[in-house]
Amino acid sequence: MWSWRAWKRQRTLRRHAISEAQWAQVRQALPMLDGLKPEQDLLLRERSLLFLAEKTLTALPGLEVTDLDCLLLAAQAQLPLLGLAELGWYKGFHQIVLYPDDFLSPQRHRDPSGVEHEWDAEHSGEAWQQGPVILAWPGVAASGGWDGYNLVIHELAHKLDMLNGDANGLPPLHHHMRVTEWAEAMQHAFDDLNRQLDADEHAQTPIDPYAAENPAEFFAVASEYFFSAPDLLIAAYPAVYQQLQAFYRQDPLQRLHASGAAHSSAEQS
Ligand SMILES: [Zn+2]
Repeated sequence: MWSWRAWKRQRTLRRHAISEAQWAQVRQALPMLDGLKPEQDLLLRERSLLFLAEKTLTALPGLEVTDLDCLLLAAQAQLPLLGLAELGWYKGFHQIVLYPDDFLSPQRHRDPSGVEHEWDAEHSGEAWQQGPVILAWPGVAASGGWDGYNLVIHELAHKLDMLNGDANGLPPLHHHMRVTEWAEAMQHAFDDLNRQLDADEHAQTPIDPYAAENPAEFFAVASEYFFSAPDLLIAAYPAVYQQLQAFYRQDPLQRLHASGAAHSSAEQS
C-alpha cells in the first residue's frame, strides 16, 4: 500500500544525509550509545535526522550551536524511543529552545494552609504541556555519558508523561503493562527516597534526590538513570528498572556491560 508517511520519510532521509564522519563524531561524543547493535545504530541515525527535520531548534542570543551539537541533541532525544514504533511520541511540540545558561523561572506553590508562595527558581530545563522544550546548553553539553545525568532525556521524559494529560509520572503504558504494577514500583521507590531525605536532608540517596520532588520528577530522573546509569538504578530499585524496560522496550544495562563501563557503587551492592 502506498504510504504518504513512508514516502515523506524516505525523501527526508535522502535529502539530509548524515555523513559517516559526522556520525562517528556523535558516537565518540556520546559514550551512552556504546553497546548499540548495528541495526539499532542505523535506526538511531535515521531517526535523529528525521527528528531534526521535524523540530525547530532555536538558540537564544549568546549561544551558537553547530550541526554536530544539533545531532548530539537529536541522538539523545531519540535514544529513549529506539525500541518503540514511530507513533509520534514527541508530537504536540515543534520547538526546542536552547538557552546559553541556566535560567530563572517563576514557581508557584499553595501550601496546605492555603497560602500561595511564589519565587524564582534556577532551572536547566523545562517542558511545557503543548509547548516547547527548553534546555540550558551547559546541561546538554554535560549529558551523554554513563553518569546518571541527562538533561535531554529528562525533559523529553516529561513530554512522554504529558502524552496522556498532566505530567504525573504515568506515561501511556503499552497494552500488556499494568498500571497497578507501574504505580507500585514507582511509589515504593519514591517513598523510599523521601524516607531517606526526611531522616537526613543530605542523605546519599541511590539516585538524584530531585526524584523525590514529585512523581513526575521521579519518572524523569529514573529515565535519566535507566539510560545513563542503569546499573545504579537496577541495584537500588529493580522493579522500577523492570517497568522502564517494559515501557521503553530496551535494556541499557546490557549495553553498559557490553561497553565495559560500570559504576563502582553498583558493583559493590
Ligand atoms: Zn523535571
